[in-house]
Formats: sequence, structure tokens, C-alpha cells
Amino acid sequence: MLRNDDQLDQWDRDNFFHPSTHLAEFARGNLPQRVVTGGSGCHIEDRDGNRLLDAFAGLYCVNVGYGRSEIAEAIADQARELAYYHSYVGHGTEASITLAKMVLDRAPNHMSKVYFGLSGSDANETNIKLVWYYNNILGRPEKKKIISRWRGYHGSGLMTGSLTGLGLFHNKFDLPLSQVFHTEAPYYFRRENPAQSEAEFTAHCVAALEELIAREGADTIAAFIGEPVLGTGGIVPPPEGYWPAIQAVLDKHDILLIADEVVTGFGRLGTMYGSDHYGMRPDLITIAKGLTSAYAPLSGSIVSDKMWAVLEQGTDENGPIGHGWTYSAHPIGAAAGVANLKLIDTLDLVTKAGDIGAYLNKAMSDALSDHAHVGEVRGAGMLCAVEFVKDRETRQFFDPADKIGPQVAAALLDADKVIARAMPQGDILGFAPPFCLTRDEADSVVAATLRAVRKVL
Ligand code: PLP
Repeated sequence: MLRNDDQLDQWDRDNFFHPSTHLAEFARGNLPQRVVTGGSGCHIEDRDGNRLLDAFAGLYCVNVGYGRSEIAEAIADQARELAYYHSYVGHGTEASITLAKMVLDRAPNHMSKVYFGLSGSDANETNIKLVWYYNNILGRPEKKKIISRWRGYHGSGLMTGSLTGLGLFHNKFDLPLSQVFHTEAPYYFRRENPAQSEAEFTAHCVAALEELIAREGADTIAAFIGEPVLGTGGIVPPPEGYWPAIQAVLDKHDILLIADEVVTGFGRLGTMYGSDHYGMRPDLITIAKGLTSAYAPLSGSIVSDKMWAVLEQGTDENGPIGHGWTYSAHPIGAAAGVANLKLIDTLDLVTKAGDIGAYLNKAMSDALSDHAHVGEVRGAGMLCAVEFVKDRETRQFFDPADKIGPQVAAALLDADKVIARAMPQGDILGFAPPFCLTRDEADSVVAATLRAVRKVL
């Protein structure tokens, strides 16, 4: 079925603008070109006949695993019956209305409605617009600044790329925008003061937030956005007591909380939401990846009762809300979402993610924690990371030019056909497998990782 390989590779280099890629190296033919042809369970296949164990579930999104015919059939049925109709001015489809009900049934009690978009980035853009609208309706036009964290990842649009706290996503794009302020990353392993306990480090993060709020003025700050567990910034679970302490500061200053659950939503931490897991009380929840397990693009902004009442008031005063995408609540995405959430229920995948995630994290920690160049093995649920250091005592970084993280990821792939992700900042190897990972597969991921680490370090 495929074109001859050389021709396809040439077309790829000549025509395809790949995201997050070193464009010049790719054009020179110095980067691998992998044409992915199939997938089943935790594995993908490529055109060269390789079968790879995908321990990062694509981009931590194929949560139910590849090749689920229940979702494929739901998509095909929907496409045959009605491929598209919009959701403006009260229109909907059975799939979009059913999915909204299913999402709200699974959300924390104080959430009211869900707006559907297409990507995590556009859902976060929606959230910031809703926050601004909310404060305008409440007569507080000056309360607009948004606080995010260094090492947070919230997308790569203009606003969401600004919220993202990783230099790579700002460099040469004239970001961040002026309304965005970054505060301390809750990254205990990288604390400046090694003598600090976790609780002391939490207090330090809280003090940094309080300082920022005092400096800018609480009356100018609209919202705080955070992932329950930092994802792309290094897979970093929060230190002890972090979220309740942050929530208390936000409540005190009347600052809204946006929980970015694009990675953690729908079970990755072994609970439906990370907010449930860490005791957050968000005003908005961002969902995407796990909503459809990436079988079709779909995202959502779940809005709290408190904000919803103000949005309704706003439309009474100003007319219809001026926000919508052509593809909001696209029927095919919605059908995929309904089938995906049903599958998660039927197979009890949230519980399974918690169980197998705990198994994977323990096995990884047992196997690697003592290695001379492993600074930390950490994780939560079906998220796991190994951070490499030059010196364990001082937590000294390797020279970034050594590219230790990418080297280990490449060794893992070459020798054992296991895909892990070299996280974009720091020498961190990330794992976020599909929830159907078996214990045997977890064991082989761990054994292969140990071999790859020994080979490189
Ligand atoms: N928020 C978080 C926490 C993410 O991890 C991501 C993507 O990885 C996004 C938002 C952006 O989602 P998308 O890539 O679908 O725009």
C-alpha cells in the first residue's frame, strides 16, 4: 500500500513541516524518519516492520491503547450517519450531548458545563478568554493577569505558549505575552536549598506566589493555571501539601484556579482527575488527550457553577458569547469520546492505571535508584520519570550538549524497541504508557531502561 520508501522520505523532507522538530537537521536527512503504519495495545508498527512498545502512549494520549475497534466503529458509524454539523446557537448531535453529560457525570460536583474544542492548546485559550470575560462582567476590568509556573506546559498558541514555562516554547516567538507571570516550579528535586524538607519547600513555593501577588497587586490577577503533576516540564508530582496550600492563597485573593488536566484527566493518576487526587478545587478544568484517547481530536473546558452563573449574566447583558470554533464538539470527536469513556468504564481502566502505574514506578525505582547517574526516579499513577545527574551528591547537571536524556531514549529504542520520551528540558526520561500495559510489559520496559542507562552512562 505504501509508496516506495525513498519517494515517501523525499516527499516528507520536501513538503511536511513537522512540529517540535529541528527543521534544518530534518531537511539535511540527519533525523530519523519513521512512518508509522499500525498499532495494537501498547505497540505501534512502522513501515520497516519494527514493532515498538510505546511507553509514552503517543504523546501521553492513547490511554486505552491502540487498535480499539469499539472506538473505530463508533467513529465510522458517526461519519456515515452525520460527519459534521456545527454546535452554534443551540445545535448539537446525540454524540456531543451524550458526551457532555458523561464528562459532567465524571467531573467534580461543583462543575456545571463543558465547552468542546479540538486541542489542549485551544481549550486553554478558551479558558483564558472565559476568565477575562468573567472579570469584565463582574466589573473588574483590571483583574486580568494570569500566573503560571516555570516548567508548566499549557500548549503552544500565543497565550498558551506564554503560559508554558519552558524557554524552548518562547524563544524567538516574542513570548510570553505581557499578561502572563511565572512563579516557582514545584520541583522538589531541583530546590535551591538542599536542606529543605518537602513541607518547607512547599512553604517556599507558597511564599514565592504570595510575593508575586503582592508585587503585582491581587486586584490585577485573574487566574492561576497549573497541571496537577507537571508533565512536559519533567513529570514532577507536587511536594507534600502543595495544592491545598496554593488553593488557600488563591481563595484568599479571589484568584481563579485553572486545573490543566490535559494529561491527568480520565485516569492517568489512577483517579478520574488529578484535581480529585490532590484536593484542588478548580474553577475551570482543561481536558483533551484522554477524552478520546486521541482516536479523534477533541478537547474541553469544564466550567464551574460559580463561573457559569456569571457567563449567563454576561449574555443577558451583552448578547451571545462571541466564542466558537467551526469544529467545536465535532460529531466524530464526540462519538470517539463517548466510546472511549464507555471503554474506560467497562474495562475499569482508571483503577488499572493506578495499579499498573504503582507497579511500574516501584519496579523502575527498585532497578534504577542506586545507579551513580540517576538523581531521582519519580512518578504518580501512570507517569514515571528518571532524572539523570552528573553527580548524585550535588545534583549537578550534565552539560546539555551531551544530550544524555536523548541518548538514553535512543539506546532504549535501538536495542529494545521501547519508546520513552526525552523530556524537552533537562536530562529526564519520561514514561506514560497506555493503561492496558501488562506487568510483563512493565518489567520489560524497566529491564530495557536499565540496559540503556548502563550503555550510555
Ligand atoms: N496542557 C497540557 C498539560 C499538555 O500536556 C498539553 C500537550 O501536551 C497541552 C495542554 C496542549 O495540548 P495540545 O498539544 O493538544 O494543544
